Amino acid sequence: LDPRLVSARASVISPQLSLLIIRDVTERERLDQMRTDFVANTSHELKTPVGAVSLLAEAIDSAADDPDQVRIFASRISAEASRLGQLTGRIMTLSRLQAAESLAEVGAVAIDEIVAASIEGHAVQADSAGVELTRGGDRGVWVRGDGQILIEAVGNLIANAIAYSPKGSRVGVGVKADGDVVEIAVTDQGIGISEADRERVFERFYRADEARSRRTGGTGLGLSIVKHATQRHGGEVRLWSRPGRGSTFTIRLPITAAPDADDAVSKKSK
Ligand code: ADP
Repeated sequence: LDPRLVSARASVISPQLSLLIIRDVTERERLDQMRTDFVANTSHELKTPVGAVSLLAEAIDSAADDPDQVRIFASRISAEASRLGQLTGRIMTLSRLQAAESLAEVGAVAIDEIVAASIEGHAVQADSAGVELTRGGDRGVWVRGDGQILIEAVGNLIANAIAYSPKGSRVGVGVKADGDVVEIAVTDQGIGISEADRERVFERFYRADEARSRRTGGTGLGLSIVKHATQRHGGEVRLWSRPGRGSTFTIRLPITAAPDADDAVSKKSK
C-alpha cells in the first residue's frame, strides 16, 4: 500500500495524521538514499585496491625472472591487502554501530584504560611520523559502554591527529571531568580544517583533501565511526580547528559511577 495514498486518506480524517505519514515517507526515502549511496561509495572504495592487487599480480608474473622486482611488487600487494583489510574492518564497525543491535559488551569502562590503550595502539605511528604523543588530565573517571568501540573511536582521533601533523609537533590526549560529563580531547598542531570542511568531515567517505588522505592511508570512515560510536554512548563530538594551526576533537560522554569491589569480584569470577 502506497503510504502517500494512506496519507491522502488520512488527510480527510486529520491534517496532523497526514503530516505524520508524509514525514515518515520522507524519512524512509532519505534512509533508502543513504543506504544506496553507502553501497555505491563502498563499492567504489573497494574497487581501487582490488584493481591494484590484480594488476600487481600480473606484473609479478611478467617479472618472474627478476627477484628484486618480484619483491617490490609483492610488498605492494601486501600493502594493498592491508588497506583492504582496514577498509572492510571499518565498514563492518560502522554498519554494526548504525544497526539497531546492541553494543557487543556493555559495562563500566575506565577512561584511563581507554586512553592508555588508544595511545599504546598508535605509539609506533607517532614514532615513525616524528610526533610526540602526550597524555594528561583527570584520572579515575568511568563511563558505561563498549570499551573496544571507545578505544577504536579515540584511536581514530589520535591516528588522524598524527597523520595530519608535521614532524616535530605534539599531539595531546587530555581528560577532563566536568559535572556528569567527561571530555576526552585530542589536540594537534597540524594542518587544521577549514570552516566549510568542519561541517562535513564526519560524513562517511568525506575527505577534506582527497589526495593527502589517501597518501596517509585514510579511508574517509574514521570520523564517521567516532561520531556514531559517541552517539551510541549518549555523547557527542565537538570540533575546534584553525587552518594552519591545528585541531581539537572532543568526545563528551556521560560519567558513570566507578564499579564497587563486589562488581569487580563478580566480573572476575565470570
Ligand atoms: P581519513 O581516513 O581520510 O582520515 P576521517 O573520516 O578520519 O577519514 O577524516 C575525514 C577527513 O577529515 C580527513 O580526510 C581529513 O581531511 C580531515 N581530518 C580529520 N582529522 C583531521 C585532523 N586532525 N587535522 C586535519 N584534518 C583532519
